Amino acid sequence: MAKIVILGAGYGGMRTAKQLAKVNNLDVEIVLVNKNPYHYQSTELHEVAAGTKEPDQITFDVRKAVDPKVKVIIDEVTKVDQDAKKVELKNGEPLTYDYLVNALGFESETFGIKGADENGWPILDINTAVAARKHLEDTLKNYKTSHDENDLRIVVCGAGFTSIEYLGELVYRMSEMAKEFDFPLDKVKIDCIEATPKILPMFDPKLADWGVKFLEDHGVTFHAGTPITEVKPNAVMSNDTAFPANTIIWTTGVHGSHVIADSGYDQKRNRVVVEDDLSVNGHPEEFLVGDVSAVPNPSNGRLYPTTAQISIAEADTAADNIVARINGKETKKFVFKSLGTLCSLGPKTGIAEVDMGGHWKLKGAKASVAKKLVADRSVTELTDVSGIMKE
Ligand code: FAD
Ligand code: NAD
Repeated sequence: MAKIVILGAGYGGMRTAKQLAKVNNLDVEIVLVNKNPYHYQSTELHEVAAGTKEPDQITFDVRKAVDPKVKVIIDEVTKVDQDAKKVELKNGEPLTYDYLVNALGFESETFGIKGADENGWPILDINTAVAARKHLEDTLKNYKTSHDENDLRIVVCGAGFTSIEYLGELVYRMSEMAKEFDFPLDKVKIDCIEATPKILPMFDPKLADWGVKFLEDHGVTFHAGTPITEVKPNAVMSNDTAFPANTIIWTTGVHGSHVIADSGYDQKRNRVVVEDDLSVNGHPEEFLVGDVSAVPNPSNGRLYPTTAQISIAEADTAADNIVARINGKETKKFVFKSLGTLCSLGPKTGIAEVDMGGHWKLKGAKASVAKKLVADRSVTELTDVSGIMKE
């Protein structure tokens, strides 16, 4: 009996487990390792960080969500020994495997910027999202006694998708927090600092401008072409210019799991360029999916971005290719058909370019509905047991 070990119960790992478990007459043992007993929808972490959703609305129990034939181990992976085909764990005994799917996901990127780790609040898992929310609320509450204007100043670092979606939730909730924590709304200052010259460059310029104006109308000031060079305890620096704030949200990008570098893979920012069937060069028994994989888009040679959409699609190919290998058949190439690019601006609005039955450019409530439909679909794509849905 072949043993398949899947690392990480995020989008990539959950989907791989689901796809493998439903293959009939496959004589395999499937093991899924995750550091927490729960799965979290990473695509909604910014909502927990802004306080528009509670953690239990974006998490579910991994054991209840997978097919009972999948053995779930709750432990932290520390290293993969590719030659010995062995996974080392923080607490338990090492696991050997015949086939491996590594889906350990993303971590926050600081690019070595001084003070970013110490003074910025990242949004990368449930614990960091909850911590960012607590800091935000405590700081805003504190203004009532401190009268320190920096308590009402928030700097969001970077203007990628995570920053923009976080800002959307933040401005949506701000007036409610002003009432609850008794601070003057007109004194709140929100700055978003971006190194590149254009905000939301991946969208049609009219949609991007609409999204930027929406956030500006709700109190956000964008500083494009402004590289962050240092993060101090109460200010973000771009060379000599200081952006003071007592809440600094650190969302300047991601890299793959540190386990990749720790295991000696040939990697860049903890992402490994995989073969066209998603296996690892020289290790046909090993597949990388999701944010630890770097997959060139055959149409332009550039790497695909790291998204949940792609993680799920990669998981399908990796699962099929493991089955092909077990049955002595040829593996297939990974092919990705995007559903489009969708960005929320709070719970009720957004912008989107959707590729389903045509190419649709959407803004406002329609874009928000499209985004929720794609997100809700992803939950059903991950779980094996009916009834596991977000509240
Ligand atoms: P992850 O989802 O990161 O899952 C990795 C899993 O492995 C987690 O369960 C983690 O706990 C576990 N793990 C990590 N390290 C270890 C270890 N050492 N040992 C054991 N277990 C471990 N993409 C979209 O397509 N659409 C969106 O709308 C969207 N919104 C986003 C919003 C935010 C705020 C963020 C941060 C990202 C968003 N993304 C979105 C990107 C998307 O979330 C990621 O691309 C996706 O989560 C990657 O999936 P994954 O399976 O590779 O890894
Ligand atoms: P990102 O890399 O997409 O954006 C980070 C931003 O920070 C970039 O615009 C970058 O120029 C900026 N930046 C980096 N260093 C900086 C510096 N020193 N000073 C100022 N700005 C700096 O990262 P993200 O937004 O965290 O997203 C991570 C991944 O998740 C991406 O692949 C993204 O596509 C995906 N994601 C998708 C969605 C969605 O589809 N709705 C939502 C969130 C995240």
